[in-house]
Amino acid sequence: MTTRVRFAPSPTGPLHIGGLRTALFNYLEAKKEGGAFILRIEDTDQNRYIKGSEEYIQKALKWCGINPDEGPKIGGKYGPYRQSERKTIYKSHAQNLIDKGLAYYAFDSPEILSQARDQAEKNGETFKYGSLNRMNFKNSLSISELETQKALKGDYVIRLKVIPGERITVFDRIRGNVTVESDLLDDKILIKSDGMPTYHFANVVDDKLMDITSVVRGEEWLPSLPVHKLIYDAFGWKTPDFMHLPLILKPSGKGKLSKRDGDKEGFPVYPLKWDKNTQGFKELGFLPGSLVNYLALLGWNDGTENEIFTLSELEKKFSINGIQKGGARFDYEKAKWLNHKYISNIKTSDLLNKNIIRCELDGCPGEKHEEIVRLVKERLYTLNDFKKEVSFLKDPKRFDEKAVEKLKIKNPLPILNKIHFLVKNNDDSFNIKIPLFEWAKSENMPLGLVMQSLRLCLIGDLTGPDVFAVCSVLGKGVILKRVKNFINYIK
Ligand code: GLU
Repeated sequence: MTTRVRFAPSPTGPLHIGGLRTALFNYLEAKKEGGAFILRIEDTDQNRYIKGSEEYIQKALKWCGINPDEGPKIGGKYGPYRQSERKTIYKSHAQNLIDKGLAYYAFDSPEILSQARDQAEKNGETFKYGSLNRMNFKNSLSISELETQKALKGDYVIRLKVIPGERITVFDRIRGNVTVESDLLDDKILIKSDGMPTYHFANVVDDKLMDITSVVRGEEWLPSLPVHKLIYDAFGWKTPDFMHLPLILKPSGKGKLSKRDGDKEGFPVYPLKWDKNTQGFKELGFLPGSLVNYLALLGWNDGTENEIFTLSELEKKFSINGIQKGGARFDYEKAKWLNHKYISNIKTSDLLNKNIIRCELDGCPGEKHEEIVRLVKERLYTLNDFKKEVSFLKDPKRFDEKAVEKLKIKNPLPILNKIHFLVKNNDDSFNIKIPLFEWAKSENMPLGLVMQSLRLCLIGDLTGPDVFAVCSVLGKGVILKRVKNFINYIK
């Protein structure tokens, strides 16, 4: 049987990078086996539905190159791929379980249930609607057939009839066996009073009907596994393989990475911008390849020290055996380091196609563009760093005061005059490095002082790309003007 995996997000907001990693691992599992990666939108919870989420999910997957083989947009023979469009399928499947005596209708009002919950709380217990008390409630097991028919005209839910005294064991390929006593489970609702299925029911029915062979999802779903197994068993279906991925942890301290951590520490937790307050990795200057690479490392390795993998390398190397059990700590500095590696390796012409790069170079002669990008490329950790790195293109607005004061003590005027003279009289007017260094040597002038003077007068501070390469980009006129300005400034 060919591998078929699915990514099944609920459209309840932007796709968190934890969700994106789940999508990636599903995609890799499919590609490695030559199988199919399916996108299924689990939109049965109307209360949590947020407009624009599905579109966001599709866009984010596309940006990362994690393209589904089947899904709501491209279709496929197992569709529809939106659960809200599959209502009748769930209804008939629930009916099937009722007919077999493995599910039942329940007519209890929210008030009655809430009273029961309060009472249980008073007794120091957790309320559970199940084998011990189901006959005390109003459902098709406790009332007559005739009463049931009447009650079905009003609101009702369909519940799974959990058999007490059973031991439920499910195997997870990452965590091994998960075992739960059925006495601990309640009679889970399968169909809600609005006619929509619950997550558990729709998820199992769809995984079966879509011929899913492996379920790869976040660890937070592990506690639901025994319930899912009961539903599979009720239908007499074989379960797919299960793999629950480790949590992505906060950069420090305990717990799962949240949006709040990102807001507090100034890093993104979403791939793309969601609203004006929520920027994504893309807007903060990440390349999709480096984000995908970083996500792959969150809980997986190939058994070597290697950390750089393109998506197509991952498609070949990925293996469930390389997934760790324990949580994976999010490390923004590492994500930036990887992005830096990717930017350094990308073709200069490809960088020039990026909007943010083009915008910064606007107004600068076209023939200089490649030279400028080559000059600063290896200094960029995000594409957004480009702005700062090419700030030397504009005349310095202010000078690093501390550095200027230190320089003044050593009297840089002869150096500045020499620079001016060399630039003015040199045929290759920007190539002043050799004559300047020779002069410094003959005058016993420390090279550090020479370099600091040149850098301060051209750029305004002591950091930035190679200063002679900067000279070449700026050209004679600009250099002469800046040297003059600086001489006036320190006088
Ligand atoms: N709709 C669930 C979610 O958003 C899917 C869980 C699963 O993959 O089974 O996480």
